[in-house]
Amino acid sequence: MRSHLCNRCGSCVGLSSGSVVFADKTGAYRPEITGPVNDARADLLWEACPGKEFSFPVYRQKFYPDAPFFHEFIGPYHRIGIGYATDFSTRSKGASGGIISAILIWLLEKKMIEGAVVLGMSESEPWLTQAFIATTREEILAAAQSKYIISSVNDILPEMEAFEGRLAYVGLPGQIQSIRKLQSINHPSVKNIRYIFGPFYGNTLHFSSINSFLRTYGEKDYRQITKLYFRYGEWPGNMRVEMKSGRVIELKKFHANYLIPFHILRNSLYCTDLTNEFTDISGGDAWAPVYEERGKGFSMVISRSTVGDKILGQMIREGALSFEPIGEQEAITMHSHGYDFKKRGGFIRIRFRKWLGKPVPDFGYTIQGFAFSRIVMELIISSLFILMGTRLSRWMVEQFPPAFIGGIFERTRNIWKKSTHTIKRSKLQEQ
Ligand SMILES: Cc1cc2nc3c(=O)[nH]c(=O)nc-3n(C[C@H](O)[C@H](O)[C@H](O)COP(=O)(O)OP(=O)(O)OC[C@H]3O[C@@H](n4cnc5c(N)ncnc54)[C@H](O)[C@@H]3O)c2cc1C
Repeated sequence: MRSHLCNRCGSCVGLSSGSVVFADKTGAYRPEITGPVNDARADLLWEACPGKEFSFPVYRQKFYPDAPFFHEFIGPYHRIGIGYATDFSTRSKGASGGIISAILIWLLEKKMIEGAVVLGMSESEPWLTQAFIATTREEILAAAQSKYIISSVNDILPEMEAFEGRLAYVGLPGQIQSIRKLQSINHPSVKNIRYIFGPFYGNTLHFSSINSFLRTYGEKDYRQITKLYFRYGEWPGNMRVEMKSGRVIELKKFHANYLIPFHILRNSLYCTDLTNEFTDISGGDAWAPVYEERGKGFSMVISRSTVGDKILGQMIREGALSFEPIGEQEAITMHSHGYDFKKRGGFIRIRFRKWLGKPVPDFGYTIQGFAFSRIVMELIISSLFILMGTRLSRWMVEQFPPAFIGGIFERTRNIWKKSTHTIKRSKLQEQ
C-alpha cells in the first residue's frame, strides 16, 4: 500500500467492509487501514491485489484459451481495427470514437446487461471521479470520456455484488487485473460481471495536476470547480475547467500532456499493459495523422475474447459501429511511443527498482534484450520523472503559460513517435 506498486484499483477498499479507505483523494490517494482486518479478510485483500503479482501467461491461458492471435505487445486478440460509433451523439460524447459507450448502450438495449460499471465525475465533489452503475443510455453517456486523475473503480465492489442483474464492467488494466483475480476465485463481488471493456492506458496523474493547472491560470481553490473535463469537445479534445465564478479554462489535450511528467502516478511507470490486455474488447485513440487531422473521433478497437469478438461482429453488421480492420504492424506503429514506454521502458524501470533492492511486480513474463542506448535513455527519462516530480520543478513550470510548455510537449511526443516508428518484437535488440 505504501510502495509504488499500488495502482489504486480500489479492491482492498471495496472488499474491506469499511476497514480500508482512501482518506486523501486530493493528496497521495493511498488506501489506509482504519478498522479491524481479520486474517481471512487480509488474505482476501492480498489475493485480490494485482500490484505485487499478476501472471499474464496464466490469466491469458485461463481467459483467452482460443484467441487466434497473440503478440507480446498487444496481448491475445481476434481482430484489430479503426472505428467509431455511428450514432453521432455517442461518438461526439466519447473520448475518441465513442466505441466503449456505444458497446455499453448496445448491450443495454439488447437486454444483454442490466447495468454498466462506469466512471463519472462526483456530483457532490465535481473535481473528483466517482464510479457508479449506469442503467440508462443517458447515464452511460454522462460517464463517457477519459478521466486522467487517479480513480478507484473497484471501491464499489459491494454495490456490484448487491446489484440485481447482469453487468458490463469498464476499467483500466490494474483494475481489471484485480477483477480477473477475483473471478478466478469465484468471489461473489464479481459474480454479476458478464463483459469487461476498457481503455488503453498510458498513465494517470495525481490530483496535484489539477491544482497545478489551476494555479497557472491564477486560480487557487479547486473547490470552486463546478465541472471538470479531460477530453471536452472535438477529438482529441481539450482539458476544460468550469469555475463557480463562471470562468471557463480550456487547453488542448496535447498541450495539457505537459502535466504528465510533473504529476504522474509512479505506478503507471511499472504497468506494462498498454492496450488493456484482459478485457473482452479494448479501445484507444487512433493516433495517426490521417485520423487526427479529420477530428470527429476515431478509436483503435481490439476484440480479444470470443464473446467480445461476437459483440463487435454483430454491432458492425447492424451498423452500430464503423470498423476498418488493420494489421498487427500498423496497430503497433500507431502506438509505437506507447509500446516503447510500456513494454520496453516499463521492464527496464522494473529492473532499475530491483537493482535498488525495492519490491517489484511479478507479471509472470518479462521482455529483455534492449540495446544499451535504450537503457541509458531510460535512466535519463526516469531521472527526469523524479526531478520533475519535485515541488520546485512543479512550481517552476507553473510560471510559464501552459500553451507554451504544452507546445514543447506536443513536439516532443511527435519526435518520440517518429523515433520509435519501426518498433517490432524482433527488432528490440537493434533499437
Ligand atoms: C487514464 C487513461 C489513460 C489513457 N492512455 C491512453 C494512451 O496512452 N493511448 C491511447 O491510445 N489511449 C489512452 N486512453 C484511452 C482513450 O483516452 C479513450 O478512453 C479510448 O480511446 C476509448 O475511447 P471511447 O471514445 O471508445 O470511450 P468512451 O465512449 O469515452 O468511454 C470511456 C469509458 O471509460 C471509462 N473511463 C474513463 N476514464 C476512466 C478511468 N480513469 N478509469 C476507469 N474507467 C474510465 C468511462 O466511464 C467510459 O465508460 C487512456 C484512457 C485513460 C482513462
